[in-house]
Amino acid sequence: MLRLPAFTYLQPTSLAEALRMKADAGPDGSYVAGGTDLYPNMKRRHQEPTTVISLMGIPELTTEGRKDGTGMTAVSAVLTLTQLSVLPSIRRSYPAVSHAAELVSTPLLRNMGTLGGNLCLDTRCNYYNQSYEWRKAIDFCMKKDGAICWVAPSSPRCWAVSSSDVAPVMVAIGAEYRLVGGKGERLVPAGRFYHNDGINYLTKQPDEILVDVRLPAPNGWDAVYHKLRRRGSFDFPVLGVAAWVRWEAGSGKRGAGSVVAEARIVLGGVASYPQEVPEAGEALKSSALEDEAITAAAEAAYRPSKPLDNTDFELSWRKQMTRVYVRRALEELRSRHRS
Ligand SMILES: Cc1cc2nc3c(=O)[nH]c(=O)nc-3n(C[C@H](O)[C@H](O)[C@H](O)COP(=O)(O)OP(=O)(O)OC[C@H]3O[C@@H](n4cnc5c(N)ncnc54)[C@H](O)[C@@H]3O)c2cc1C
Ligand code: SF4
Repeated sequence: MLRLPAFTYLQPTSLAEALRMKADAGPDGSYVAGGTDLYPNMKRRHQEPTTVISLMGIPELTTEGRKDGTGMTAVSAVLTLTQLSVLPSIRRSYPAVSHAAELVSTPLLRNMGTLGGNLCLDTRCNYYNQSYEWRKAIDFCMKKDGAICWVAPSSPRCWAVSSSDVAPVMVAIGAEYRLVGGKGERLVPAGRFYHNDGINYLTKQPDEILVDVRLPAPNGWDAVYHKLRRRGSFDFPVLGVAAWVRWEAGSGKRGAGSVVAEARIVLGGVASYPQEVPEAGEALKSSALEDEAITAAAEAAYRPSKPLDNTDFELSWRKQMTRVYVRRALEELRSRHRS
């Protein structure tokens, strides 16, 4: 049985106090929300904080879905995934967000795991998500304690995989993250929050707290999320497809004649960050999501989708499934638009 190492647990009651505690603890301090990623990682010695600072008792963090002056909806980073998936305002206006949240793992983990923890989730790899002894037996790898990458031994970088279900949706819909740190507050577009690097996978500073996520006003766009995994519950995505389109109104009844003005296709589980494929979005522009446009977008998404041999399933099959899942996502968007 894997055991947690000893650590000091702190419970700040304000953002300022949390930041002070993190400044005092320095690199040995880590924030925790639901702990469903951090604690298993600590058991395997992936992360070894000696001070753990909880974000769950801070009233400034506990707003639900609140509209700001610009029509955006601010969603608290400490909402659990269960809360996020059942909030009526999110289900009504942002069904792709609630759907991605309800596809994460199991009910127990969704009751503990939070939105913020999901968006800051550590990258994953078969050579990393193992016990300390397992990793030691292969002389570790460069993500933690070692020097080599076992997936691509001549590579100077780590290829661990972004495995969050909600992050690709946030990138696709153009959400913004509000961060508060020692140097003040800033808003970061979701697409700029992630790096394609398995070790430095976030652009945020270590002391910055993700306070809330701003969802764009739901006017004229729609989005869906499709997830590939071995078991229909519990498993991380080995491929996630978030598809977003903004419709340009047509003159016909019930949207007839409308075309796609803008589109984004974002892939999860195939790189160290949620990977947008601009060529796939381009292929949909000015179309009504006819079969030809969907085929072109699925083909465009397939080409740069380069899963490596470090998660579940055979990698060439996972690549093939990019085409299939992009197609399914776009067909769902089309049928929703027509109904
Ligand atoms: C068996 C199992 C299956 C899982 N399956 C899935 C899955 O299918 N899909 C999926 O997406 N995830 C999955 N997860 C991962 C995890 O449960 C979820 O991603 C969850 O949402 C993480 O949230 P948390 O609050 O528990 O994060 P924590 O463990 O508390 O934190 C994770 C990381 O984020 C940081 N962090 C947390 N909140 C903030 C914040 N507000 N500001 C700054 N930093 C913050 C922490 O410091 C830590 O580094 C699974 C986990 C397990 C154990
Ligand atoms: S991709 Fe390479 S360096 Fe990164 S976790 Fe896997 S084996 Fe380690």
